[in-house]
Amino acid sequence: MTAAGRPRAVLVTGGAGFIGSNLVRWILEQDASVRVVNFDLLTYAGNLESVEDVEQRFGPEGERRYRFVHGDIRDFSQVAAALRLEGGADAVLHLAAESHVDRSIMGPGIFIDTNVRGTLVLLEACRAELDARPRPFRFVHVSTDEVYGSLGPADPPFTETTALAPNSPYSASKAGSDLLVRSYIGTFGFPAIITRCSNNYGPYQFPANLIPLMITRAVQDQPLPVYGDGMNVRDWLYVADHAEALWTVLLRGRIGSVYNIGGENQVPNLEMVRRLLALLGKPESLITFVKDRPGHDRRYAMDTGLIQAELGWRPRHDFVNGLEETVHWYLANESWWRRVLSDAYGIAEMYLS
Ligand code: NAD
Repeated sequence: MTAAGRPRAVLVTGGAGFIGSNLVRWILEQDASVRVVNFDLLTYAGNLESVEDVEQRFGPEGERRYRFVHGDIRDFSQVAAALRLEGGADAVLHLAAESHVDRSIMGPGIFIDTNVRGTLVLLEACRAELDARPRPFRFVHVSTDEVYGSLGPADPPFTETTALAPNSPYSASKAGSDLLVRSYIGTFGFPAIITRCSNNYGPYQFPANLIPLMITRAVQDQPLPVYGDGMNVRDWLYVADHAEALWTVLLRGRIGSVYNIGGENQVPNLEMVRRLLALLGKPESLITFVKDRPGHDRRYAMDTGLIQAELGWRPRHDFVNGLEETVHWYLANESWWRRVLSDAYGIAEMYLS
């Protein structure tokens, strides 16, 4: 950390994924003195093409403030080595995870292994590194609103003290990792902060998630699978706003705290799909209702009063513009998503089966 409390070297886990790639780019553009190590296993969800521009601008051939490390958070020695790069990380932003709810229903094991055991190994490697070379250090654990479960139509939004009540194997694994981090704070005085964010949207999102799935299918005039009655409500946040929130928490958040992050944009899925079709100039007849997801949470909404009052963060992007920009990005980057889709095995088709 600098005298002003800014990190010198940040280890980002999962930096080749959707949020991670946007975050790594945002940090390097934001702070000209910081170094970033992107540690990622490159699973089906990780994609080096999402950070190709970052590598060119900031990597070894550019400003030399960025490097990619192909590694697994479940491997202690790989994590330990990554923590010592760039003069030694003084901050960790932990995003690496299995993140897709439908996949967690088809196969929960990898979610527990990556999200719970992986977080444990990462915490242990950080502790060992800090024991060996004590230094100011901060760890931000990036979690989700889904750990709080589901809201009824009239329930107040989730606050940081809402009881955890996860309903999918994915959200259970994230809740498990949140509790592990909490226990490390309490037991070992580990300098961690937990963030819980609502649904993100924006560039580089894997096309199995609602918004890019609908855009990429609509562009190809394929049916758009909408679960159940389409009235499940999600709170949408533009991914750059999440990046700014994470950086703000890393710099100024209180160790041991939990911060909710959200967009205050509650939109039913069906309305979202209709908006996307309107932006793309495609007919609503493409909408196809499919059997609801088992355990499908009805509504999420976040109370973000704490992060607003304590750290002064609030979303900058308005939903209408953010959505328009996102649609344009997918239209302009067709080669990116076509390659991602061809690498992934029938991801979209699973919704229609
Ligand atoms: P993503 O699936 O796009 O990216 C996850 C990344 O983690 C991938 O690059 C993958 O290769 C990497 N990874 C997986 N297993 C790994 C391992 N064992 N070791 C190292 N790297 C590994 O996910 P995302 O949507 O970018 O989400 C990132 C984080 O933010 C996750 O922890 C997720 O729970 C959380 N989150 C996501 C959202 C959202 O709307 N997408 C909302 C709130 C919180």
